[in-house]
Amino acid sequence: MCLDCDNQRLNRRNLMKLAGIGLAASTVALPALASDKKAAPAAAADPHAAEAPAAHASTAEAPAADPHTAEAPALSPKQALAKLKEGNRRFVEDANACAADLAQRREELAGGQHPWAIVLTCSDSRVTPELIFGGVTLGELFVIRNAGNVLDTGALGTIEYGAEHLHAPLIVVMGHKKCGAVSAACDVVKKGVELEGSIGKMVQPILPVALAALFKSEDFVGQTVRNNAVSGAKRIVEESHIVSHLVDEGHVKIVAAVYDIATGEVEFIDKIS
Ligand SMILES: [Zn+2]
Repeated sequence: MCLDCDNQRLNRRNLMKLAGIGLAASTVALPALASDKKAAPAAAADPHAAEAPAAHASTAEAPAADPHTAEAPALSPKQALAKLKEGNRRFVEDANACAADLAQRREELAGGQHPWAIVLTCSDSRVTPELIFGGVTLGELFVIRNAGNVLDTGALGTIEYGAEHLHAPLIVVMGHKKCGAVSAACDVVKKGVELEGSIGKMVQPILPVALAALFKSEDFVGQTVRNNAVSGAKRIVEESHIVSHLVDEGHVKIVAAVYDIATGEVEFIDKIS
């Protein structure tokens, strides 16, 4: 047992306070960081693997002057995915265990970041990746959020940066049940609703997905949520030669996912093609 691991147990409520949800700390001492072997089987051989992962920091593609590549142990795409799944299991089973010593992490990360997963998801206030993946802390997830987890130019450029320059080995496009943005797109397709302001433009990329799902399922919105996440994941490869190259080389894996806001469970869709 090391001092760092002990310290991570001290401020259990910090992350919850940060999220503003005010949950009381559990009396069970479960560190939220991947330093716990139980919490992160994929990184069990290295209790501090989560602190500075970079799956392909040593590849030829890595820019020599990139300040984010220094001395980071590898975390494979498969390990990163396993870690997310384990984190979500922890969140579902004991949400109050989500905590981290934010002050310590802030200090550790001042010199650079090594996120091990990129997450494109919805801005919905109930869909907070750092929490639903088990209370991961500062410096772990590279998150892009907008209503409907739309893969627009900003999102794709951000993903490219996270994959190419920060060397995050996993990309997750995650929709969620009862998504308002997807529901709005479904209303446009099904009922001819006209959306005001910029919301109409914002949901435009979802419209073809909704149209394809129309009359295909009793759960029109739910099916569109799922297809929209899969479509976004596919389009990353189709529209980004930077990311597709990293995928071809085995440095990056892309998955889709759907979060259930009621149960807290994330369903991963590994096969997106
Ligand atoms: Zn949403």
